[in-house]
Amino acid sequence: MRKPIVAGNWKMNLGSVNEAISFVRAIRHPLNEIEGVDRVLCPPFTVLHPISEILLPLEIGLGAQNMHWEDQGAHTGEISPSMVADLCQYVILGHSERRAAASLEDSDEAINRKVHAALSHNLTPILCVGENLAQNEAGETHAFVYTQIQSGLQGVSKEQAPSCVIAYEPIWAIGTGKAATPGDVNRIIGLTVRSALADLFGEEIAQKVRVQYGGSVNVGNIQSYMVMPEVDGALVGGASLKPDFVDLVRGALPSQ
Ligand code: PEP
Repeated sequence: MRKPIVAGNWKMNLGSVNEAISFVRAIRHPLNEIEGVDRVLCPPFTVLHPISEILLPLEIGLGAQNMHWEDQGAHTGEISPSMVADLCQYVILGHSERRAAASLEDSDEAINRKVHAALSHNLTPILCVGENLAQNEAGETHAFVYTQIQSGLQGVSKEQAPSCVIAYEPIWAIGTGKAATPGDVNRIIGLTVRSALADLFGEEIAQKVRVQYGGSVNVGNIQSYMVMPEVDGALVGGASLKPDFVDLVRGALPSQ
């Protein structure tokens, strides 16, 4: 019922124009052929434009890794929703690496403003949520993730909600090689993420929202998540920087 979606978050990598262009040229055709999965590349801002031109005739989505919520103004160094919407269809919001850096001011309230700005510019927000290791060990995962979803999506309408994507990313699993078990991911998405969505929008809409898992996903473990009924894809960091990202995306096909 929900089409899988795999997004590659390049973070601050492959950022030189030549490097980014040659990587995208190398993967674009095989990636484009994987029609049963929405596939999205989220490179650094500085290469969005050249990559958007390469992807123009293709079915591969393009996303930014963040944005400001205001459309214009005196915000030195920021990128506005309309600038992103000019080039992209997606935007990652509230990634834990940004939430953790207080100076970047990705508070729950700021993230909620960005979600609204994304939706009003027809951008698909990929809202990242997830607990840290201490919270996980203290049994606080449910309460923490539930609250992040409630505050991140506050004020979003029932009509807008199905076009949001949630990425459940336990912080301790990001970039560590210590992926959460597929069973645990399925349980947290089912019990926590979907119940927060159901409390906001009702059960029917909660079942329509796509929820990714993120945290040390690679070509070898993607299928173990995709066989889980609650998991609708992955947000991938490190493994999206290599050509076998194409195989990883293929591993998310429902028939695999
Ligand atoms: C991420 O940055 O969102 C992520 C999941 O990274 P990695 O796949 O490297 O763990």
